[in-house]
Amino acid sequence: MDDAGLDALRRAGRIARKVREKSLSIVREGVSLIDVCSLLEGLILDEGAKPAFPCNICINDVAAHYTPTIGDRSIIPPRSLVKIDIGVCVDGYIADTAITISLDSYLQPIVEAVNTALLEAVKIIKPGVQTSTIGGVIQRVITSRGFKPIRNLTGHEITRYNLHAGLSIPNIQIARGEKLELNHVYAIEPFATMSDGGGEVVSSNTTTIYRLNVGKFKLEKLEEERKLLEFIYERFNGLPYTPRWIPDFEKLSKIHDKIVRLGKIYSYPVLVERKGRPVSQAEHTVIVTEKGCEVIT
Ligand code: MN
Ligand code: MN
Repeated sequence: MDDAGLDALRRAGRIARKVREKSLSIVREGVSLIDVCSLLEGLILDEGAKPAFPCNICINDVAAHYTPTIGDRSIIPPRSLVKIDIGVCVDGYIADTAITISLDSYLQPIVEAVNTALLEAVKIIKPGVQTSTIGGVIQRVITSRGFKPIRNLTGHEITRYNLHAGLSIPNIQIARGEKLELNHVYAIEPFATMSDGGGEVVSSNTTTIYRLNVGKFKLEKLEEERKLLEFIYERFNGLPYTPRWIPDFEKLSKIHDKIVRLGKIYSYPVLVERKGRPVSQAEHTVIVTEKGCEVIT
């Protein structure tokens, strides 16, 4: 990454942090999910950046990959655990960050467990640290507080225009890890559930977020399919998107469904806790430096 890339990445990080902090003042019982996400995505655009993926708002046992659908009328329920996950893209450089807001003091400890796990993980990051060691730290913090880490959700490396690139960073101790490298960018994201939870997520039948399987669309023979794929390619640069962002999607939904079935578009199913228990998440994006890391979010 050159200096211009580093500047863009840091700027993405500052915007992501600002938007995340804004979510603290708007997430309240009874507020509509679509209002929260549209407002936060709008703030990113106001800053001259782009959302790197649709604003995720995941409530209680919903762990990841939910963004409001077109005409979504759901609201934030009372006493819920609300996760907001935000991605900001500046010239392809991506910052990814998340926060959990508890609307019931009873849920505050599970929020603090992931916040502390994230802080402790960040403290040990430096060139050459093993992902298994980071997973071990996250697992120990979460279990020592009486909760359970989500074993099949991980942090990840980030490269330009690629949110999930290469290396994964587990939230549990694993047998064999890989080494973090100098100047590489990683998102660290501990997830926890209750001690009686399944400790893993499963796919639900709902999908609200998609991504183009890049490069496959040029061969498209049918014009309407090619047009939609080209629009998605040009508008979203291969990054995740949601139908909410596509003008007149209602008219295109059948073609969209078809190209999803054909595998030309990848879909991210909404992930839920296997036993239906609440899930908390915290996430920062870091750059590995000579002596440690720089948290950009
Ligand atoms: Mn995220
Ligand atoms: Mn992430």
